[in-house]
Formats: sequence, structure tokens, C-alpha cells
Amino acid sequence: MINERHDVDLSGLNTFGIGARCERMIEFTDSADLRDIFSRPDIAREHWDVLGGGSNILLTGDFHGTLLKHAGSQMTITSLDSHIAEVRVDAGVVWDDFVQWAVDHDFWGAENLSGIPGTVGAAPVQNIGAYGVEAKDIICSVEAYDVLTGKVTTLASAHCGFGYRDSIFKRMLKGRTIITAVNFALGLESSPRLDYGDLLTETESAGGATLSNIRAAVMSIRDRKLPDPHETGNAGSFFKNPVVTQTFAEKLKSDHPSIPLYPSGIDGTTKLAAGWLIDSCGWKGRSLGRAGVHPRQALVLVNLGGATGHDILTLARRIREDVHAAFGVDLEMEVNVW
Ligand code: FAD
Ligand code: NAP
Repeated sequence: MINERHDVDLSGLNTFGIGARCERMIEFTDSADLRDIFSRPDIAREHWDVLGGGSNILLTGDFHGTLLKHAGSQMTITSLDSHIAEVRVDAGVVWDDFVQWAVDHDFWGAENLSGIPGTVGAAPVQNIGAYGVEAKDIICSVEAYDVLTGKVTTLASAHCGFGYRDSIFKRMLKGRTIITAVNFALGLESSPRLDYGDLLTETESAGGATLSNIRAAVMSIRDRKLPDPHETGNAGSFFKNPVVTQTFAEKLKSDHPSIPLYPSGIDGTTKLAAGWLIDSCGWKGRSLGRAGVHPRQALVLVNLGGATGHDILTLARRIREDVHAAFGVDLEMEVNVW
């Protein structure tokens, strides 16, 4: 199914709620549609990009060209034994609908990733993560349409270049592939991962480590701390948590004894909490014009109403300068600026 529209209002299609339009938007459901779309010379030549739920983008103006949007909604169990369920999910499925579906089927692995906005197709792009789990932990392969060859490639997880909020789809394959489906391996045996922050306590008070209690606990922690994009425009964490050398982290610790340091998972390096750095520079809860810093999580920049992408970028630049001056750390944007 191909559905083409022109001069589309994007303000309800990005969670920052930034007002902008795009010249052409095409919804599609499979790779055959993509082959038809890219056989049109006007589209093949023009600027194009892929839009999911718009929860990790910042629009800085109108989009000139074509935005492609996966509209598929299939979730299929492709193999099942006594330990593992393999599941194929269309890129267009809402991520949290997939998590709810997995929980309803008693499939383990996605529950800590409850409540993350966006689509399944975008999950491998930045290897979404929360509460000690990353999408790569449950992804076995990613199906992607290659615009250069016109073919669908199935990339095994080991070939997706997954890293901390990173993947090959943000790098080498950016502008070349469109993710059409993701294959997950989910566990059938109970395997709770509750060693992150208050998750254990919250799950216990919900009644113990069942899939639905863990999901409820994650949702409740998130609701208390993060702004609802329907009420306050935002794209979650604006910056990535910096990963620095062990030596640099030790120097920071001796200069700022209260700085939190976390294992990065990569030998010889340490993860810093960007939110703590921003808070320490006095930005938490502050604003610059129509762009603000969320009062409960300094890593989240918000649209206070009528902000443009440039208003948000101006605030981001001021924050980066202050963090650099105070700690010698360069914050890298997590959000994709369009
Ligand atoms: P979009 O914003 O539409 O797109 C993001 C990028 O992916 C773009 O570059 C786009 O071109 C590309 N893309 C999208 N779909 C495809 C596709 N099918 N093929 C190829 N490229 C594609 N992120 C986390 O990691 N953890 C969190 O806990 C988390 N919490 C959040 C909380 C809030 C309140 C908000 C607003 C955001 C949060 N995010 C979090 C960020 C965001 O939800 C994720 O990055 C999500 O995966 C983005 O999905 P999307 O469909 O909205 O992608
Ligand atoms: P938080 O729990 O206040 O923690 C602050 C930061 O410290 C987090 O960014 C987290 O890194 C790190 N951290 C805390 N405990 C950790 C531990 N036990 N092991 C390793 N790192 C730890 O963060 P929050 O804002 O409420 O978010 C909770 C979770 O949701 C986090 O995992 C966060 O990544 C995720 N989240 C992500 C986004 C996004 O847009 N990317 C938005 C909202 C929430 P990590 O970020 O690496 O986990």
C-alpha cells in the first residue's frame, strides 16, 4: 500500500511539537512498495529521509523532499521452542505496542524498554536503551531495504555495529537503507533485570518480578520523571551520556567528588551522566526564550510553547559551552537535527 500526500503539516508528527511542513510524505508497507517508490526518478534524485514516530528528531525548518513512513503493523512469531520465541515485527509498529504484546505473550526481554516512544523500525537506529537493557540485547537481525541495490538485506545483530545509542544505521548505512522489519529473540523463562536504580524496589511494591509488574514499575518511574510529549514537547535525552577515558574520569572525580561515574561496558572507559553535568552548571529548570531544561531531568530539553528548532539549538549550544567550560567535556547530541 502506497499513500502519497503533499505539503504535510509535521507539527503533530514530531514530539518536540515544532511547527514545520514537508513537501511530500509517502507511507508504505513493504519492500515491494519501496522498489516502486525508488523507481520514480523524481524521488530517487530528491532528498529523502525516513520518519518514524518523530520522537528523536529536531526540525529546524520545512523538509524539502520526501519523507518515507512505514505503515506496516504485523507482529509474527516465526519460531518457538521451549526457551526462545523468535518474533518478526514490522518497522511501522509502535515500539510500546510491541513491548505490551511481548508481555501479554509471556515473552521476556523487552519489558525494561517499556514506555519508550517511537517505532520498532527506529529502535535499532540508536540501539534504544533504558533501565540497564538495550535493544541489541533482544535483536537477532534487522531487515533493511538498500536503496542502491533495490534489495532487502537481513543484517545479523553482530553486523549492525550496535554501541551505546549507536549503530551502523546512524553511520555507514545512513541515507542508504530503510529498515522494514526487526527480528527479536525473546525468552520464555523468567529473567528479570532489576539492578538499575529504584526498579527492584518499585517492582517489589507492584507485587514481585512478573513481566507485567516490571512493565508497570518502569512506566511508573518514567511517568514521575519524564515530561509527557503530549503536554510538553521534547525528544527525551537531548544529549548522549559522554563516555570518557578512565584516567579523565578519575581526574573529574578528584575535582568534583560527587560526580556519578558508571561502567561504560568498554574497557578503559567510564560513562558520565550528562544530566548531572548540565544540572551542575545550573541549567536544570531554566529557560532561554521558548526553550527550556526540564525541572526533573536536565538531560531533557523542552519546547515551552511555540519554540522553533533554532530556539532549542541555541539553548543546546549554551549548555554545551557551559559544560565544556566547567568539566572539559564535549556533549554530543543524541537527537537527530533535520
Ligand atoms: P524518529 O524520531 O522518527 O527517527 C529517529 C531517527 O531514526 C531518524 O534519523 C530517522 O530517519 C531514523 N529512522 C526512523 N525509522 C527508520 C527506519 N524504519 N529505517 C531507517 N531509519 C529510520 N530513547 C531511548 O533510547 N531510551 C529511552 O528511554 C527513551 N525515552 C524517551 C522518552 C521520551 C519522552 C521521548 C520523547 C523520547 C525518548 N527516547 C528514548 C528517544 C526516542 O523515543 C527513540 O530514539 C526512538 O527509537 C525514536 O523512534 P521514532 O520512531 O520516533 O524515530
Ligand atoms: P537516571 O535513572 O536518573 O540516571 C541518570 C543517568 O545515569 C542515566 O542516563 C543512566 O545512564 C545513568 N545510570 C543510572 N543508574 C545506572 C546504572 N545502574 N548503570 C548504568 N548507568 C546508570 O536516568 P533517567 O533520566 O531517569 O532515565 C532512566 C532510564 O531511561 C535511563 O536508562 C535512560 O537512558 C532512559 N531514558 C532515555 C531517554 C532517551 O531519550 N535516550 C529518555 C528518557 C529515559 P543510561 O542512560 O546509559 O541508562
